[in-house]
Amino acid sequence: MIQLYIPLNFLGVIYREIKQALTDLDKMFLLLEREREIRDAPDAVELSRAPGSPPPALRFEDVHFAYEPARPGAPGRPVLQGLSFEIPAGHTVAVVGSSGAGKSTLARLLYRFYDVQAGRITLDGSDLRQLTQASLRRAIGIVPQDTVLFNDTVAYNIAYGRPGAPQAEVEAAARAAHIHDFIVGTPAGYATRVGERGLKLSGGEKQRVAIARMLLKDPPIVIFDEATSALDSANERAIQAELRAAARGKTALVIAHRLSTVVEADQILVLEAGRIVERGRHAELLAHGGVYARMWALQAQGGEAAVRD
Ligand code: ADP
Ligand code: MG
Repeated sequence: MIQLYIPLNFLGVIYREIKQALTDLDKMFLLLEREREIRDAPDAVELSRAPGSPPPALRFEDVHFAYEPARPGAPGRPVLQGLSFEIPAGHTVAVVGSSGAGKSTLARLLYRFYDVQAGRITLDGSDLRQLTQASLRRAIGIVPQDTVLFNDTVAYNIAYGRPGAPQAEVEAAARAAHIHDFIVGTPAGYATRVGERGLKLSGGEKQRVAIARMLLKDPPIVIFDEATSALDSANERAIQAELRAAARGKTALVIAHRLSTVVEADQILVLEAGRIVERGRHAELLAHGGVYARMWALQAQGGEAAVRD
């Protein structure tokens, strides 16, 4: 028995390790696959803007999208179903809606992690697929829902958006994102290594690093995807003001989990199952007495309640 038991147990360990290696490989191939898929068109052009010119205007035109199906050949479940909206240069459009409605997918398409399956997304009239990815991504600052940090120093992680930025500017961005004091309290300050192989940061700390990165990059287009969802309410209120200032004069897509943050948006889109079911300014949507008005009433009741759950 003993003799049998040991090899089987050993095999179990090997099996688990192989399985892990395979899933890691799977992940790698998925990434490679995506890299291959999202390639610059041979005649791709730079998204170029003269210094001091207004930020680009953004349009989603009848956009349809589904993620790759679990089994090849199977139809993908539609996630966005004929979405059209515009963010005029320098305006802020907010997106609200329940979890799974497709809000983060909008952000991913705009950053071109994926391409649309029908319709198009344009910046100043140019289809994203006709722009070089490098110039597109230079123009966009994103604070994602879940920030993944590089296994590098905290300074590197903040300056990633603008490599070579002077230390004073890195620190100014960190101060504005309310993460400076935390950083100087870590063993090596800005030289502390973070990420999987370094100091583990909480969700809120990672989110503030992402906010600092975006502030330092200071791009013409900003995307906030529930950018303060991991913060406690005191930090959230303080940082909201910084984010509002950062979005001013920029083309901004603000995905919100708290309705209080979208009151001032030029337009609010209510997304349900990949479709825009209501759009308008805060007061108009309240007067309309539909989905948004109900969400607002619910949140007012629940105080801190978030929209997405
Ligand atoms: P939201 O941000 O509004 O909560 P998402 O845009 O993240 O919603 O997701 C929309 C839908 O797409 C959900 O049903 C989600 O499960 C699905 N989805 C999101 N990411 C992926 C992915 N990488 N692969 C497959 N399905 C996904
Ligand atoms: Mg989301």
